[in-house]
Amino acid sequence: MRIEDPNVVAALSELGVELRCSASLAKLTSLAIGGTTDLLSIRKHESIPGLLSLLDSRGVPHRFLGGGSNLLVDDGELPWVIMQLASPDPDVVLEGNFAQVDAAADLGRTVTYCAKHDLGGMEGLIGVPGTVGGALRMNAGAYGMQIGSYVREVTLYRAATRQIEILRGEQISFEYRHTSFAPDDMMLAVKLELPSKPYKEILQGIRICNEKRRSSQPLGQKSAGCIFKNPPGASAGRMIDDLGLKGLSVGDARVSERHANFFVNAGKASAKDMLALIADVRERVRSAFSVELEHEVVIWNA
Ligand SMILES: Cc1cc2nc3c(=O)[nH]c(=O)nc-3n(C[C@H](O)[C@H](O)[C@H](O)COP(=O)(O)OP(=O)(O)OC[C@H]3O[C@@H](n4cnc5c(N)ncnc54)[C@H](O)[C@@H]3O)c2cc1C
Repeated sequence: MRIEDPNVVAALSELGVELRCSASLAKLTSLAIGGTTDLLSIRKHESIPGLLSLLDSRGVPHRFLGGGSNLLVDDGELPWVIMQLASPDPDVVLEGNFAQVDAAADLGRTVTYCAKHDLGGMEGLIGVPGTVGGALRMNAGAYGMQIGSYVREVTLYRAATRQIEILRGEQISFEYRHTSFAPDDMMLAVKLELPSKPYKEILQGIRICNEKRRSSQPLGQKSAGCIFKNPPGASAGRMIDDLGLKGLSVGDARVSERHANFFVNAGKASAKDMLALIADVRERVRSAFSVELEHEVVIWNA
């Protein structure tokens, strides 16, 4: 989608929102799949209510992009513009056991920064790519922990009120890869409360998690992490592996040989290829185990 109306272009500039024409989502996502559209880079949170009013009044559909590490985006010219937060400097401010973190901050760098200041708890998140905002939206987690456990406050743009508001941790429910935020709420910042731990001890935990990832995940390849959520009490990866589906391909979209719940773009896979592979695997699991696998990857169909 192109923003060509000179009045809209001028209004964006007044709001301090940078317009990047014809951005490639293949270059902005870890799967390296996706078509093109205009990208709006937001430098100041305060501009968001005005930006949303502008886009809605002009009938410009929009989607919100974090680090693009949990997304499968359609091919071709996309029918919505993309909004993304620019990261401020600094993006993490510590006070005692609290970390005030901008949603655009890189998750891995945030975990490391806190660790260096003897604040732990998030060791399991090392190696989860993307932004802190994306991690909040997805309630990212690994190795028995999830980010939601440490959230004390979230600053967000609430679509329902069209305002920037602050929610306390207990007003939000964080479940397995699911949160109670409305689909078009935008996370802007979070206050985390982290347990004190000596850096050396945190580093040891980080090394163990890194090693677990290296030995079980196709880290050098283009993926979006796990494609399916684990059904209650079961492992989606184990079911796919038990059916002998590692290596199954549609075009360059392939079930990883290393981890059956990671689907990789082994070359020039299109969204169509990846969606066909996902549908095929889902159907085979359904007919073999009578289990409907739910997507963990967020799919943006045009
Ligand atoms: C190699 C690899 C390993 C991974 N391992 C894990 C793992 O162990 N555990 C795990 O949980 N995940 C894992 N993931 C998936 C992914 O990294 C996480 O889900 C991550 O938190 C997504 O963040 P993001 O910023 O990239 O979000 P994106 O992919 O950009 O977006 C995902 C969704 O969140 C929304 N969103 C993003 N930012 C915001 C915001 N500020 N406000 C509102 N909505 C927003 C988007 O609109 C979209 O719906 C892995 C991915 C890869 C590639």
